[in-house]
Amino acid sequence: MYDHVLIRYGDLSTKGRNRSAFVSRLKRQIRSVLSQWPELDIISNRDRTFIHLHGVDFEQLRNPLENIFGIISFSPVVKVNRDMEEISLAASQLLEKEITKPVTFKVSTRRADKQFPLNTNEMNYFLGSHLLKTFENLSVNVHEPDLELTVEIRKEAIYLSYETVAGAGGFPVGSSGKAMSMLSGGLDSPVSTFLAMRRGIEVEAIHFHSPPYTSDRAKQKVEDIGQLFADLTGEFTVHYVPFAKVQELIQKQIPENYTMTSTRRMMLKLTDAIRSTREGKAIITGESIGQVASQTLDSMIAINAVTATPILRPLATLDKQEIVTISKRIGAYDISIRPYEDCCTIFTPPNPKTRPKLEKVERYESFVDFDNLLLDVLQHVETVTYRANQSVSQEMSQLL
Ligand code: ATP
Ligand code: MG
Repeated sequence: MYDHVLIRYGDLSTKGRNRSAFVSRLKRQIRSVLSQWPELDIISNRDRTFIHLHGVDFEQLRNPLENIFGIISFSPVVKVNRDMEEISLAASQLLEKEITKPVTFKVSTRRADKQFPLNTNEMNYFLGSHLLKTFENLSVNVHEPDLELTVEIRKEAIYLSYETVAGAGGFPVGSSGKAMSMLSGGLDSPVSTFLAMRRGIEVEAIHFHSPPYTSDRAKQKVEDIGQLFADLTGEFTVHYVPFAKVQELIQKQIPENYTMTSTRRMMLKLTDAIRSTREGKAIITGESIGQVASQTLDSMIAINAVTATPILRPLATLDKQEIVTISKRIGAYDISIRPYEDCCTIFTPPNPKTRPKLEKVERYESFVDFDNLLLDVLQHVETVTYRANQSVSQEMSQLL
């Protein structure tokens, strides 16, 4: 019976003059995620977006809508004329299917059109008493009702629903600028990437791999994560950086207890160079304080010194269990736990310094010509853009 979906923005409403840009971005995002149903009409205004279903089953749209950033909640609704008889009829028809046993309910009205003759209390009372008279299994509970009838009064019509679905929250992708996420295919960095995207950042990922030391199956994990994110946002780009030569040089020239620190510094330098050509404004990592040797505050000082670009660490203060929970929720967990080693694991020294000194690592590196090698590596970056609902990558291009 539901003929529309009503979409609420939450956070967006505080965005002042940027709001119209946000709303049109969100609308584009919805259109692209729901592109397989061309019959849908999507109508946006300041505070709401409506999807006219034209016969499409709401249940098919539920999951795709749940994953769109910028949506705080949504409801399947019936649209009725501003006529009290029509409203009562629709409210009881919708409820009929739900009532097989005694249930409690309440009515919540939102009056977007203040000209409407009944105010919210009067509307709640009007519909509440109508439903109580119609169904004997029904009683009111305003605090914890089994069912909540939401009524949205607008200029053009009134929208009724018995269901409100929580959305993903955050901001529409791209509304907060672009950044580069260091994506390993492990457990943490897919989660940090997701959280940054949810905040509206347009993210491109950078992955370091080291064939022949690392396998195709390790790379496949990142490809699968890339596809997962493409399905979520429309498209997702990953830059694959061949890193073996850099690691070999570090292995040969840097004292063993500093190889890890130096490795991270070179990764960050390369990431920053790619960020610059792609016009990103920040770098995202999956670091969580204290998790491993490279993630102590002392390590951060020594590693971070290679760039002044802001580094966002969405997981900095989360516990592993919290990260695992998000990983499972977004569908990355099963990919992340596949046991193929990435470049860092393979070259990790037995005793990496947990408190490296910046002066020392800078001195060790000063005897080696890394810069020319890094420039060479940048010539061999492979860039792949994944697209929603497609299992093969679409574009391969040389970054530089
Ligand atoms: P993750 O679970 O994300 O692999 P981790 O617990 O293994 O992280 P580290 O190995 O210290 O921790 O990596 C810290 C961060 O450095 C990662 O979250 C990621 O952002 C980045 N990173 C590590 N390895 C790679 C890689 N091969 N390619 C790109 N980024 C990487
Ligand atoms: Mg890892």
